[in-house]
Amino acid sequence: MCGIIGVSGVHDAPEVIVEALRRLEYRGYDSAGMTIYQDGRLVRVREATGTHSVELLSKHIKDFQGSDSISGLGHNRWATHGKPSQENAHPQFDCSGRVAVVHNGIVENFLELKEELLNHGHVFSSETDTEVIAHLLEVALIETDRIDFALAEVFSKLRGAMAIVAMETSRPTLLACVRRTSPLIIATNDGEGFIASDIPAILGRAKHYYQIDDGVVAGVELGEINAFKLDHEPAEPREFVVTWDLSRSARDGYDDFMSKEIMEQPQAIRDTLAGRLQLWDSSGIKLDELRLDLEQLLGVNKIFMIGCGTSYHACMAARYAIESLCKIPVELDVASEFRYREPKLDPQTLVIAVSQSGETLDTIAALAEASDSGAISLVVSNVVDSSMARMADAVIYTHAGPEVCVASTKTYLAQIVALELFAIYFAKLKGTSTAKEIQALATALTDLPDKVEQLTNRFAEMIQVASKVEAFERFYFIGRNVGFPVALEGALKLKELSYLPAEGFPAGELKHGPIAMLDPSSVVVAIATRGRLWEKVMANLQEVKARGAKVLLVANEGDQQTIAEGDAAFLVPQTHPLLSPVLDTIPLQVLAYHLARFRGFDVDRPRNLAKTVTVE
Ligand code: GLU
Repeated sequence: MCGIIGVSGVHDAPEVIVEALRRLEYRGYDSAGMTIYQDGRLVRVREATGTHSVELLSKHIKDFQGSDSISGLGHNRWATHGKPSQENAHPQFDCSGRVAVVHNGIVENFLELKEELLNHGHVFSSETDTEVIAHLLEVALIETDRIDFALAEVFSKLRGAMAIVAMETSRPTLLACVRRTSPLIIATNDGEGFIASDIPAILGRAKHYYQIDDGVVAGVELGEINAFKLDHEPAEPREFVVTWDLSRSARDGYDDFMSKEIMEQPQAIRDTLAGRLQLWDSSGIKLDELRLDLEQLLGVNKIFMIGCGTSYHACMAARYAIESLCKIPVELDVASEFRYREPKLDPQTLVIAVSQSGETLDTIAALAEASDSGAISLVVSNVVDSSMARMADAVIYTHAGPEVCVASTKTYLAQIVALELFAIYFAKLKGTSTAKEIQALATALTDLPDKVEQLTNRFAEMIQVASKVEAFERFYFIGRNVGFPVALEGALKLKELSYLPAEGFPAGELKHGPIAMLDPSSVVVAIATRGRLWEKVMANLQEVKARGAKVLLVANEGDQQTIAEGDAAFLVPQTHPLLSPVLDTIPLQVLAYHLARFRGFDVDRPRNLAKTVTVE
């Protein structure tokens, strides 16, 4: 799940590559490298100093001076094969240094390919699977002198999900690329060509953006694109419109992207609701892009919701709304487990797959399985025209804007909101809820962005509360009903950012085991807003207090009775019970943020993680 950039015909190629790598750092950052064609050869620099790699790379920009230095490749690595090191950083070369390759993903059959190449005398200088691609291209270039034709031949030998960009010295302005499941976009601008793994890499630089389908090879040269299928039949790259602007993906004066993105949550929800929730209209919800046949949707008798990490928690939080409004059984699954348990799927099953990027490989694989079984598929994604959006029968986009911090915040809240919109839409269609019930949730959704804003405006106050537990080293999060996914998400955020042991439990489950871990050195964070099971949460809290654990609460503003039960409390506005996960999660994001910063950790780029997980 690395970041890839390729440029052709770009006069400030080294600067453009380094800037793109900076913007793609969220995809991987254990090492970085670039190569530029200069004076008849490929000059390469690579750094493997973790999050400093791109910064160090930028120091080499001045070394590339030649007037022919207009083409090159860059890469941020998230190591899968071989440790992070200069030798393993990309671009990878063939034996002679004629061919350069950057690669995202895994070549599953690389061992057998490598053995064959070694037998033919090829010399390897890295432990990566990527290097076999460079050597295979070296061989293919004996038969053809075009790197794009060579790539088509090589690609059919490679197994696994991946994206590749390659170039070679005899025609250095011609870049070749291909993808299978992994993301890759092409862009052009008057005589300039770009290939990148994500839009922000070239935002503001390119004019026209294109998608290519899986298995389509594209030669990109000075703003011209020549795309063809592996059998050399011509293929059309699909142009798409990018509406983001650069300012929305820059830090805007915040210390980090995480705090900026927490503060953007009111807007992310407003944008996700915009034009969709139409209280003045009797139909109430407009989900134009859903593009599902209503008869087919009415025939649905079971729903599966799948996602990974935070997206899984969004499914869990929204399940309560779908079950309660639509009166339909909903099963939840972690995407990486879903397809291995042989779920019973048929055309009356709806599978809802949730992923910020729409490129999460585990979720893509689960979605493919669901589609093969004839189930109807609906995707919730933040990235327009993502792989998952294209695979599914239907899509609801969250309009949260680009999220750079590896740990999700605004896209998580937007996912819950999008799924609750679907719950209302489906309930109206099926007639399973009263107009009053629907109206209550719809009105609460309309009021939600302002309530989120009240909360984000109190960022400093939330940090104050978080600071009361900053020295603790063990955290348990408890909640019931809609508070349970909040507890899980709070624990996940804390693990991701502060690397502290943190677990989330249904509060009623504590006594069945986890309570054994509680002592005065542990903190219990209880979701104690006034939901259906508030009284029961309060009873569970007594069990916690009796064991001497420090108690941090998420409680409603003005609820003195609850606040009195804790050592400290985050206060959140009251809302419709089904929407409380949206508000209750925000202080827990701030808690994780503060505890990580208190320990001196990089909140935007936590260790070992990457934003878009395109490996299985
Ligand atoms: N498998 C390749 C490597 O380990 C690429 C990893 C990535 O996607 O960054 O170098």
